[in-house]
Amino acid sequence: MISKSQKIKAGIYPLSEGSYTIGWDKIFKPFDAEKDSMTDRPASLLVEIQPFLLATETQNILLDTGLGFYDSSDELMIYKLLNQIGLQPEDIDLVLLSHLHKDHAGAVCIKENSQTRNLFAAFPTAKYYLQNEEWNYAYAHAGSSYDLEILEALKQSGQIELLDGDGKINDEISYEISGGHTPFHQIFRINANGEKYFYGGDVAPQFSQMQRKFVAKYDFDGKRSAALRQQYTQEGLENDYTFLFFHDLKIPFCKLKLESGMVMKK
Ligand SMILES: [Zn+2]
Repeated sequence: MISKSQKIKAGIYPLSEGSYTIGWDKIFKPFDAEKDSMTDRPASLLVEIQPFLLATETQNILLDTGLGFYDSSDELMIYKLLNQIGLQPEDIDLVLLSHLHKDHAGAVCIKENSQTRNLFAAFPTAKYYLQNEEWNYAYAHAGSSYDLEILEALKQSGQIELLDGDGKINDEISYEISGGHTPFHQIFRINANGEKYFYGGDVAPQFSQMQRKFVAKYDFDGKRSAALRQQYTQEGLENDYTFLFFHDLKIPFCKLKLESGMVMKK
């Protein structure tokens, strides 16, 4: 199967931006396990960042955008990663945003170059889907977790499709407000390529969190996230979902199975 762009095969392409630490200041710092040490980063959390390109036969879908960081050769990481799989920014048809935290929405808009502050939509022909109430929440809680300058530029682009509650974008994609991580965080179910994909954003960010109950301090409502993960795991086992994990470089995506009562990678 070939996707709409006729450039790449239909399927999942993890776009790994690598590992970072994040401290109380909510600043993401690149972390190289070979050179860096966590003892030099007190009170920091180690996170892996990984948006996805999901190519179906009709659309190229970007699932969250990553940090919007530039690499050592001044190239936007998400462009470079897309380029490595054979895609250009204008090949992206839809950008689906689980929520608007910087590590997920940091590359919705980018600067023309490092000399200017002019921001423009990073994916010039894409529609960006996000929850209206998540947008309002970001504006009401402006601070270190959200980059309002980038969000404002996205608004100016006229490429936003605001979603209200649960629904369908097209025959393949449905969305649902989960809450948990942020009050209006959303998850996506995508039926395409003969598969049932589940993108849980930061409510289902890592494979290991599907295996055992884990309440995260960084969630708006950690107990709700934990309960939802158990629900999604059950749903995934019953429907043979392929889960995509934004914060998991070791197991970017997988199906689940039960083995002696334990949730395992299929
Ligand atoms: Zn988040």
